[in-house]
Amino acid sequence: MQNAVYMDYQATTPCDPRVLAAMIPYFCEEFGNSGSSSHVMGERASEAVEKARAQVAALIKCHSAEIIFTSGATESNNLALLGAARFYRERGNRIIISSLEHKCVLEAANSLKREGFEVVILPVQENGVLDPAVLRESINEKTILVSIMAVNNEIGVIQPVAEIGAICRGRGVLFHSDAAQAVGKIDVDAASMDLMSISGHKIYGPKGIGALFVRMNPRVRLTPLLYGGGQERGFRSGTIPTPLCVGLGEACELSQREMVAESLKLTEFKNYFIRKIFDNLERVQLNGDQELRIPGCLNFSFEGVEGEGIMLGMRDICVSSGSACTSASLEPSYVLKALSVREDLAHSSLRIGFGRFTTFEEIEYASSRIIEVVKRLREMSPIW
Ligand SMILES: *Cc1c(COP(=O)(O)O)cnc(C)c1O
Repeated sequence: MQNAVYMDYQATTPCDPRVLAAMIPYFCEEFGNSGSSSHVMGERASEAVEKARAQVAALIKCHSAEIIFTSGATESNNLALLGAARFYRERGNRIIISSLEHKCVLEAANSLKREGFEVVILPVQENGVLDPAVLRESINEKTILVSIMAVNNEIGVIQPVAEIGAICRGRGVLFHSDAAQAVGKIDVDAASMDLMSISGHKIYGPKGIGALFVRMNPRVRLTPLLYGGGQERGFRSGTIPTPLCVGLGEACELSQREMVAESLKLTEFKNYFIRKIFDNLERVQLNGDQELRIPGCLNFSFEGVEGEGIMLGMRDICVSSGSACTSASLEPSYVLKALSVREDLAHSSLRIGFGRFTTFEEIEYASSRIIEVVKRLREMSPIW
């Protein structure tokens, strides 16, 4: 195999050619500003944006008007946490998140501490799933917001967001979910949520676009991060990037249409991959719950070898590791730490992500290469 095998679908996904085709007319031909409502070019851009908004809304089962376009899930998460905390600070100052949240949620929450908020970081169980009872106990009368991701980006574990949402609603607390890794892959229903973040480039759409679902009934209010022309119901000023919105809309519609078939294919790949790894290597573990997970994300720990070392041994396979060397810090993955994965096993972890354009040949090749490199590294290791 000449070219690289891309198995890092949680970091980003390729843009689907059908998404790109839908976007192209909106760069050079239909380039109007969707805010220019007094001429036809503006009108046509606005129609395209509204169609895209409806496509996003259909996927998560909400009203079009509840979709706010942003630059990505990082911005959506920041707007949800900072915006809700600042708007509702008279109600209370306690915010609850989980230890598995993406850095942008952790850091947004962290920044709120400097504004006088109390941030509670809930532990998860060893399978990576948050126990709803733990959340229920941590909500008090000062709590204004709970933010729990729907699917984790490192281990692929699915959280019981419907149950978590019901608990929050029962206590009159806002519930936000970072659904960047969930939308388009599993059924995600906005019904149990007040705020939800989506990212374009995680679902075969373009980079630089995302959305935030903001419930209208009962109405959720947010203090904006950006002020200006008052676009997006005043939540997010700035000229709307029509081609990117069209791309996100198309990506959502394709995901909705193909989710069931795609998930079946990826489940077969997943089962094959896991069986082959366990049949050929000893002392391997699959991190995170064995059942409550999306099929396109596997996180293994290969005892006795560094994740980074495996990657260096197979440069043509694009995966990601939870070991220290890939990141700027010396600490291994905080997500694996939160699952109480032993430190050496966290360093020996590898995340394998596959999706829409992955072929069985690539699954076969990548798994064989991993087995071969792990065996070789173990043979070379004096402590193995
Ligand atoms: C990728 C990702 C983000 C950030 O999304 P961007 O659109 O790249 O800003 C946030 N949360 C999760 C879970 C992600 O996987």
